[in-house]
Amino acid sequence: ERTTEAHTPVLLACESSQADRLWNVSLQAKIDQALRSGEIYVVYQPQFDILSGTMFGAEALVRWNDRERGHISPAYFIEQCEQVGRMDALTKKVFEDAIGAVATSPLAATDFQLSINVSAILLHDLRVAAMLSEVLSRCPFPARRLTLEITETSRISDYDTARLVMDRLRALGVRLSIDDFGVGATSMETLLLLPFDELKIDRMFVSRVRDSAKARCIVESLVKLGSDLRITTVAEGVEDAATLSTLKEIRCDAAQGYFLGRPNTLDSFANLATSHLPSLHLRQN
Ligand code: C2E
Ligand code: MG
Ligand code: MG
Ligand code: MG
Repeated sequence: ERTTEAHTPVLLACESSQADRLWNVSLQAKIDQALRSGEIYVVYQPQFDILSGTMFGAEALVRWNDRERGHISPAYFIEQCEQVGRMDALTKKVFEDAIGAVATSPLAATDFQLSINVSAILLHDLRVAAMLSEVLSRCPFPARRLTLEITETSRISDYDTARLVMDRLRALGVRLSIDDFGVGATSMETLLLLPFDELKIDRMFVSRVRDSAKARCIVESLVKLGSDLRITTVAEGVEDAATLSTLKEIRCDAAQGYFLGRPNTLDSFANLATSHLPSLHLRQN
């Protein structure tokens, strides 16, 4: 009975946690259904070596085209997957689809690199390396051509476990990248304490290098940081030639963005993999 103030909060808490549980169960079911039906699928965005201008690989990006709601933003449903404990299922699906697609395409015979996003919450899960290794045994693809981009949506709480998981992944031969470096929860602390092979400079800075001296300073320092740590630097969100040319001047290693290629099906750019992109004429310094 909701008569006294003392009872009310307890009752409300019970009601809301039951509602949460129902909501979670129905969301989990929806996600599982979308994973099975193909409403959740993968697109690929090409990545370029800035100095040579060649495309060397692509990043797999997940999409959800819901039958009723249409396209759902990845940022939104990835957060939901984390909240209801479906990140492992989503990641497995992306591993299977992306590695399977590249392994069975003409790109398999080249040295094409594949990058896949992995949420940092999975670095607390000791089963991840075994899961990847199981997928690689079904879809033969050299692990050294695979990069996992670790995205910190929330702070890594247990560095010891994260390091253990990362060591196991590196033992398989994969490269590890710290994604969206410089914004949100991604930090110097993570870069210091965990073993990365690559640093992805967030679009927040890249999109401003053209017009902001401050942004250019930050990107220059991040490129220097990467070079001093002997890890690759990748700029994300390159939208025009001037930005690309600035990145070349400051010797950033690799670039990705709408100017170089939008996320698309693997077939749509597979034939570009062995040649230079015609649109990529860099201004010489
Ligand atoms: P991200 O890994 O930093 O990926 C880059 C995002 O920027 C992608 O958004 C991409 O479509 C977008 N983008 C690329 N070039 C440009 C550009 O030139 N301009 C602008 N404005 N945007 C550009 P998307 O596909 O919406 O993905 C958002 C985020 O969702 C990703 O950010 C990543 O953190 C996460 N995500 C995507 N796929 C997966 C996945 O399979 N697993 C996990 N755990 N996270 C994923
Ligand atoms: Mg990424
Ligand atoms: Mg990123
Ligand atoms: Mg980003």
